[in-house]
Amino acid sequence: MTRAERARLLAERVPAAREALLFYAGIAEFRGGLEELRALVRRMGPPLLREQADALDPAHLPPDGFFARVLLRQQPPAAPAQPSSGKCPHCGGLPQAGSLRPAGDGHALHLVCGVCLREWPYPRARCPACGQTEESRIALYTNSLLDHVQLRVCEVCQRYLHVVHCGQDPLAIPDVDEIAALPMDVWAREQGWEKVCPNLIGI
Ligand SMILES: [Zn+2]
Ligand SMILES: [Zn+2]
Repeated sequence: MTRAERARLLAERVPAAREALLFYAGIAEFRGGLEELRALVRRMGPPLLREQADALDPAHLPPDGFFARVLLRQQPPAAPAQPSSGKCPHCGGLPQAGSLRPAGDGHALHLVCGVCLREWPYPRARCPACGQTEESRIALYTNSLLDHVQLRVCEVCQRYLHVVHCGQDPLAIPDVDEIAALPMDVWAREQGWEKVCPNLIGI
């Protein structure tokens, strides 16, 4: 299943995240340059991104903004960070989500890069934002609508990310299923928590 197919499937399952998922399907299929991307955003993007598309200065794209990130996905940069630093060892991007994948008798945690979408192994007990290593200070929450996605929040720095349990749902694609967890983002914000790295929808 492709990213776009997965996003359209989840759009039927999670009505509250439908618009975001359909837009993400468009991004997942996108190939092209800045002007084509601008046209896509104007056609189906959320209001905030449409405003950005109108005001965009092609000579000064913010490197961690929506437009630069989508364009970089087609050609990820090579600026490796320190392994296990919480940043992508391939391109230095921040983690968009986590994945739990079957390994040995249990499941191993990986982080998923918000720029190049590659995954790298990461210690389960460590917070990807502040690096603290007390597992008892990382709390897990789930939502019955999407019970293969856990919200992991660090009690030390109050940052969270969604971790997609690929053993529970073998069709899951972490960066897509993370978008479907939008109702949990709304709830997390109400708790005063901040995401480690906003996704391309800006959430
Ligand atoms: Zn990366
Ligand atoms: Zn932390």
